[in-house]
Amino acid sequence: MEISLDELRERAAKIKWFFCDIDGTLTDGCVYYSPEGELLKKFSLRDGTGFFLLRQAGIKTGFITTENSPIVEQRAKKLKIDKYIFGTHKKLEAMQEFVQIEGLSMENIAFIGDELNDVKLLRACGLGIAVGDADKRAKNSSIVICEGLGGRGAFREAVEILLDLRGFDFEKIINNNL
Ligand SMILES: [Mg+2]
Repeated sequence: MEISLDELRERAAKIKWFFCDIDGTLTDGCVYYSPEGELLKKFSLRDGTGFFLLRQAGIKTGFITTENSPIVEQRAKKLKIDKYIFGTHKKLEAMQEFVQIEGLSMENIAFIGDELNDVKLLRACGLGIAVGDADKRAKNSSIVICEGLGGRGAFREAVEILLDLRGFDFEKIINNNL
């Protein structure tokens, strides 16, 4: 989807929550399995700093995933995620329910994803973002497409794009918080 820079800034200014898919977005989509099942997923620490930056900008953070994984639960705790929606096969419906409960609208939601099960939510939210190696239908449904790949910097890049559009002062954070 092509939109003007002005519209992109308008959309960015309305964002109150940044949700991300997990597998293929915060990870490279690979999982190490043992005979007992899922064993390991790999996350980027540079992506982790993206959650810190969002908090500094006053934007709340969420995970939304079809899976129900203790590994992801640990990651959510470590990153101090504000909302963890898991085990949902219908992400759009789950998000519509969430925004209703919170008294928000879909234009307040940014979402980054990579797969077919993200397409409806990417189209419906205020700022749909696809990772660089997303499925082509997910890319076609997004307003922003990252160069970075899932689990390898795409999330961090998406956060910086959003914060740049909002005129976020990175120097102030470096001086005061780091
Ligand atoms: Mg995914």
